[in-house]
Amino acid sequence: MKKFYIETFGCQMNVHDSEKVIGTLLNQGYEQVETPEQAELVLYNTCSIRDKAEQKVFHRLQQFKREHGKGKVFGVLGCVAQQEGDRIFERAPHVSLVCGSASYNKLSDLLVQIENGDRRVTGLSLETDETFDTPMTRRDNPHRAYITIIEGCDKSCAYCVVPMTRGPERSRTSESVLEEARRIADAGYTEIQLLGQNVNSYRDPSDRGWDFARLLRAVAETPGIRRVRFTTSHPRDFVKDIIDAIDENPVLCNHVHLPVQSGSSTVLQRMQRLYTRDQYMRRIEWMKSAKRAIAITTDIIVGFPGETEEDYRETLSLLDEVEYDSLFSFKYSRRPNTPALALDDQIPEEEKSRRLSLLQEHQRAIQMRRNSELLGVTEETMVEGFNRATGQWIGRTSRNQTLNFTHAWHPEPGTGDNLIGRYLPVRVTRAGPNSLAGEALLSAN
Ligand code: SAM
Ligand code: SF4
Repeated sequence: MKKFYIETFGCQMNVHDSEKVIGTLLNQGYEQVETPEQAELVLYNTCSIRDKAEQKVFHRLQQFKREHGKGKVFGVLGCVAQQEGDRIFERAPHVSLVCGSASYNKLSDLLVQIENGDRRVTGLSLETDETFDTPMTRRDNPHRAYITIIEGCDKSCAYCVVPMTRGPERSRTSESVLEEARRIADAGYTEIQLLGQNVNSYRDPSDRGWDFARLLRAVAETPGIRRVRFTTSHPRDFVKDIIDAIDENPVLCNHVHLPVQSGSSTVLQRMQRLYTRDQYMRRIEWMKSAKRAIAITTDIIVGFPGETEEDYRETLSLLDEVEYDSLFSFKYSRRPNTPALALDDQIPEEEKSRRLSLLQEHQRAIQMRRNSELLGVTEETMVEGFNRATGQWIGRTSRNQTLNFTHAWHPEPGTGDNLIGRYLPVRVTRAGPNSLAGEALLSAN
């Protein structure tokens, strides 16, 4: 049983967890294959943040049920594994392995048990103070590397399964983070993205006792690293020192993702978010008064139980007040074992859909306006690829925006240098609500 296939659902944390799981398996002599048909071991790294994500996983498991008879072994990893536990064996009897992210350190042992013929093995304990550090991580993107700095979550937002699926908060030592950053730079990566459910709750468990801003400054000093990003930040733990660090050091990208969820303090309180609209706005003001123009993005949930039309209007007014550069918006989804299940006044599905599409339309106009302000501006752009259909290079700015561009000397890959992975100055010549287009400046290349 040495060939494996893995499919990943959900957020960047899951994508990076899969990279570490792949590293662990390769280290154990497994070989990764491209399709489940070719594999003997089929793994799904799952997400249960919303109902739809969870349904997708069970749907996928059903699709390959027949294959079990042909000797394939199926494993469910991640949030659905943790949330459903042993019940997965009832719902999908062809599954042999169920392992939550807090038990990935035991994954090698669990696989050995399966190789030895155990039909059902689980790793479901949440009582851990360990993080998942692997000797080998298989990274797919050749230029941007993820580094987890903190796992789990100690908050208890009323709608959210994460504290139950990822366990308590635990930070890695600053030394192990910096060591990984140095290894990544030596391997040729130029961009690092620090990951955690709440990166800014980071607290170095070693004697140094560093906070997040201190860690951020140190990672930015890694020789060879040109960009450092971080996600996600929790407004409650967001201190001004983080903005000061961004102001001081251009290696720290001028982008902050600060999920607000709602513009109504009443809803925020019922969500147990631990801040009011005013407190959130104070953090936005720090960003707006920074020396560098910082792009701000957020997450919004519409239709949380009891959200009145008035509450909803407050969210729209917050969008106008902040003028976000981009946002992720979701309809509230009832999740098992969360405090919000007990709240009265669930909003009907059609009403949630109405609020969501209106909000997205509202934000689209804001983004159109914001992006138009960038016309004529030159942005340093990291070249990520080339789009043959449009004949444009695909770039990403420090503000985390896509900037597609043409290059007079290199109209396409193969004509002279390959631009992918390089950092180029690009002037913005066109702006749409979701992306920018421009031309590479030639003199400075
Ligand atoms: N830790 C981050 C924070 O506190 O903002 C967010 C992590 S969560 C994985 C990503 C986003 O999913 C949240 O910001 C929220 O907008 C959304 N989300 C979480 N639970 C949800 C639910 N039950 N229904 C709808 N959206 C949800
Ligand atoms: Fe979920 Fe809240 Fe923790 Fe974010 S802070 S992961 S939304 S419980």
